Amino acid sequence: MPIDLHMHSTASDGTDAPAALAKLAAEAGLSAIALTDHDTTAGLAECAKACKRRKLTFVPGIELSTERGKPRGALHLLGYHIREDAPALRAVIDELQEARRMRNPQIVESLQKLGVDITLDEIAAEAGEAGASGSATIGRPHIAAVLVRKGYAKSIQDAFRRYIGFGAPAYARKDNLAPQRGIEAIHEAGGVAVLAHPVQLKCEDDTELQQLVAQLVRAGLDGLEIWHSDHTPAMVDQYRRLAERYELIVTGGSDYHGLRKQIAIGSQAVPDDVLASLAASSKSA
Ligand code: AMP
Ligand code: ZN
Ligand code: FE
Ligand code: FE
Repeated sequence: MPIDLHMHSTASDGTDAPAALAKLAAEAGLSAIALTDHDTTAGLAECAKACKRRKLTFVPGIELSTERGKPRGALHLLGYHIREDAPALRAVIDELQEARRMRNPQIVESLQKLGVDITLDEIAAEAGEAGASGSATIGRPHIAAVLVRKGYAKSIQDAFRRYIGFGAPAYARKDNLAPQRGIEAIHEAGGVAVLAHPVQLKCEDDTELQQLVAQLVRAGLDGLEIWHSDHTPAMVDQYRRLAERYELIVTGGSDYHGLRKQIAIGSQAVPDDVLASLAASSKSA
């Protein structure tokens, strides 16, 4: 049976509660899911419980926002089979949340200066209950959603392009984590570190991607996400060869975000033998 190892809940920028993801996954005929919210583990316990009720295999995960020291250098790291109470992981999550608490008000201030009627409270409300409780992740997708709802942008994409994306007038950078530290934190939590959606790294060519992967492998990277909604079949083949070359395990998932993106849960054909490779590389599974 197919599996889906990349999805977001209301604990970050998805629109389904963690328990609702288990229901959707069961209805889609999946045998296993991983919850990989941005920079938070707040949804894991609820999702694990709901998966157990539905006899779905659950892999506790996270998607860490790291930065590779160049403009537009976002690098997302997936951590699987993490122990969420591991001190090194908690420290990194606290840092990432603090960076958001610094940045989000800067974005709001810039927007207000541009004449946009928007407040931090509205953004917290958009992020929902989870956001208000302080344990969840509030990010630009929530800000973009408010901009769309209030008529300042036609779509989420348009909001990023006109206001908050890189190079746009209300863009603000956030202090981000070095990928090496993200990998270390995942390992110290007994987890498996996987480079998410390589296409989003926007590498100039194969060589740049290869060099980056080689560098991450030296830092301890365990796997490569080859199946993803942004990857064409040709990319899946290219990334599979790259994974073979560096002896990385391969993983994949839809990156389902509920109503915020046009992506269906379970829409990537990820084979269930990936679960065994993940468990074998993990120190906590
Ligand atoms: P944040 O981590 O709060 O800075 O938000 C980053 C998230 O915003 C990414 O994970 C993407 O899902 C989303 N994002 C970034 N750039 C764009 C864009 N140009 N259009 C739509 N979504 C974007
Ligand atoms: Zn997201
Ligand atoms: Fe991502
Ligand atoms: Fe994601």
